[in-house]
Order: sequence, then C-alpha cells, then structure tokens
Amino acid sequence: MSGNHRELLQSLGVNLDLHDQLIAHNTKLHERTHVAQTCRPKAMGLFDEAFHASHGNRVAEIVEYRRNGGKSIGTFCIFVPDEIALAAGVLPIPLCGGSHWPVDYADKMFPREICPLVRSTFGMAFSNTCPYKKLKDAAVGETTCDAKKKAWDLLGFNVMEVPQKKNERDRDLWRAEVRAFREMVEQLSGKRLTLDSLRLEVRRQNRKRMLLQEINALRTATEPPISGLDALLVSQVALAMDVDAFIRAAAELLGELRERIEDDISAYETPGPRVLMAGTPSPLGNAKVHYAVESSGMRIVADESCTGSRYYRDLVDETPVTLEGLLDAVADRYFRIDCSCFSPNHERIEHLLDMAELYHVDGVVQNILSFCHGYNVEAKVVEQALQKRDIPMLKVVTDYSFEDLEQLRVRLEPFREILQAKTGASARAE
Ligand code: SF4
Ligand code: SF4
Repeated sequence: MSGNHRELLQSLGVNLDLHDQLIAHNTKLHERTHVAQTCRPKAMGLFDEAFHASHGNRVAEIVEYRRNGGKSIGTFCIFVPDEIALAAGVLPIPLCGGSHWPVDYADKMFPREICPLVRSTFGMAFSNTCPYKKLKDAAVGETTCDAKKKAWDLLGFNVMEVPQKKNERDRDLWRAEVRAFREMVEQLSGKRLTLDSLRLEVRRQNRKRMLLQEINALRTATEPPISGLDALLVSQVALAMDVDAFIRAAAELLGELRERIEDDISAYETPGPRVLMAGTPSPLGNAKVHYAVESSGMRIVADESCTGSRYYRDLVDETPVTLEGLLDAVADRYFRIDCSCFSPNHERIEHLLDMAELYHVDGVVQNILSFCHGYNVEAKVVEQALQKRDIPMLKVVTDYSFEDLEQLRVRLEPFREILQAKTGASARAE
C-alpha cells in the first residue's frame, strides 16, 4: 500500500496497525487461493488489482467523489437497487465482510452464534479497519434474515422491507419500498430522479450483468476457460468496483476467455468432476469453500449464490416509457431474486435444476455459512429435488476460518470419488 493511501486511511480514522494485519491476512489468502492457480487468464490480473484496490485506490476514488459533492450509502444485500441510487447521484458501497480476520471484533456488540458475514462486516467497523465507515451518508439494510434485521435496529440503519412471500400484495409492498428508497436517496442528494437518469443507470447495470452472463456462459464448455475461484472473484469485484471500470475489465476478460475456448485452453490442469456451488454468498475476501472444492480435484463450473448467478441472472426491462413504469420494472427485477428468505421458494429450486442441466454438472456442493438458518433448512429441499434427478449433493456448513480446511477435504475428496465413479460408469454405459 502506498504512503499516500496510508495517510488517506489514517485521515478516515482507520487503525493502521490493525489494518496492516487485516491486509496481510487477506493478501496471504488471496495468493494461496487465487494467485497460486497455474492456468489463469491473463486478464484476471485486473481483478486481482481490484481486490487490492478495495482498500486503496477505490477508497481514494470515493473520497474524491465525495469531495466533489457526491453522496454515498453503505449496503449489505443485493436487494438494494443500485440503479435507483446511482440515478439520484448516490453511490452505493457494498459493505458485506468476507474476511475472517475481524470476526472476533464483532463480539463488542453481537453474539457469537450468528453468521460470519454479519460478524465480519461489523468486526471491521468495530476494529476501525473499514475505510468506508466514514465514507457514507447513510446505511441501508433489509429484512432478509433475523441476524441482519436485528443488527440494523441496534445500529439505527435505514431498512427496506423485503417481503417473505411472492404474491401480488407482496409485490406491491416491494414496489412501495422501492419508491420509499427512491425518496430517501433523492433527499440525500437533493437531486430528483428522471426517466433519462434512471434509464441510463438501468442500461449500465444491465450491461454489467450481461457481461457476467456471457463470461459465465463460457463455463458450460467441456474445458471451462475460467476456474470457479476466478469466476467468484469476478462476481465479487463486480459489486465493489466502479461500474464503468468493471465493464472495461469484464469485456477484456470475456475476449480472452473466447480465445481460450477457440484454442481449447482450460483453466484446469486436470479435468475433475464438474460441480455447481449453491447456497450463501461469499463476499470479497472469502473463497474458502471454493478453494477447498477445487483443490480437492473438482471443477466449479457454476455458482447460484448472490456472488454468482443470483446477482446477474435477471435484467431490468428497459422498455417502459414513463418513470413510474421504469421504477416498477426495477422493483420487479429485484423481486425475482430467489433468496432463501422467501416462503415458499420454488423458483430457486427450478433455477438450480436448470443450471445443473445447462452446465452439465456431475454434482452439487451446498455451501452454507454457519448460523444461516434459511439456506441451511432449505438445503433439505434442494437435496430432495436433486435426488429426483439423481444428482449427488454434499452440504458443507462452515465459517470463514481456514482451521477446518483439512476436515472439509476429508469430506470433499470422497465426494469427488463418488462423482468420478458415477461419471466413469455413465461414460462406460454410452
Ligand atoms: S443471500 Fe439473501 S440476504 Fe444474502 S445477499 Fe443474497 S439476497 Fe441478500
Ligand atoms: S448468509 Fe444467511 S445468515 Fe448470513 S447474512 Fe446472509 S441471509 Fe443472513
């Protein structure tokens, strides 16, 4: 980290000694999980840079933006509609923590028996290692799970009510919440949304999501040109990076991946079984289970989490010709998110089965963060649906710490053998 960045972080109240420890921890893991891969696309260098920039250049960019009068909000879930915030001149900063290093600092206010994502997020804030703490004018939470909901109350954050069912009246409630969010960001920036400003941001976000769709579609190939670990990094960075900078980087990566497909260049030295990762998100800094799976000889070819397809699968309909119509289109796009907070959540199962078929997966790994009851209980529904299709499944419940890596491998390696035996048997039968 440059001297300038250290001064900048200090001016933001960051505890530099603790921050050095956090960065050393994150960098070491990133080198072990991502950089150590031997068949990476060159363009992944751009995403490695973005990973490091999240506590350096990106902070400087946001400071500069705010110096010029820009407003910003902290967000914690993919339900917060970025298009609307940006169209009102408010920059959303995703603050979900993915690092294990700060989790114990959350003890200052939260019980230990909650999800590591929540603990990591607030552990960073309480240890004064989050540079974004002072770079937001407001924080916007949502009612997706109990741990988050109660945390927002405790900290006095704004809250968007995400309905728990998907009937018409729930959709109407969500559309009303989206309009309340619009008013909130307009008040913050003093700028009214217009049809043109919203349409511009809808197009930019759609472009970003389309690039992610195209990149991930290439993973259906027999020889995937990008690893599951790197595809995860691309999705993680999509949330944190400036939109236009991300679009440029993603377009460069897409071009290289297409060339790799033509030249039959795989991201893997050996062609292990193809698996789909399903479940909770892995925010920037957390790639533990992806690493455990791929270093146990399997290839992650698809990811249905919020740091995977749930983030980019749906686009906003760009055709409405009135501001109210476009606001509804934005709300409806977010209402299609199939988070486990919904009851029932049939759409998620349908999407997951479609992905399993499209990406020719041999098995599914359900990756569940400890104490995430929604995804953990729903794992049984996922298992039953997969059983009907004769798709093997392994559920892993774990936190961010690498302490149980070997225990995970002890479960993952026999799972790989089961998949290999099954694919070998079906190849022999053909
Ligand atoms: S899993 Fe649910 S609560 Fe978590 S980021 Fe995704 S939509 Fe939000
Ligand atoms: S992973 Fe589950 S428990 Fe954790 S914040 Fe998301 S929904 Fe809540």
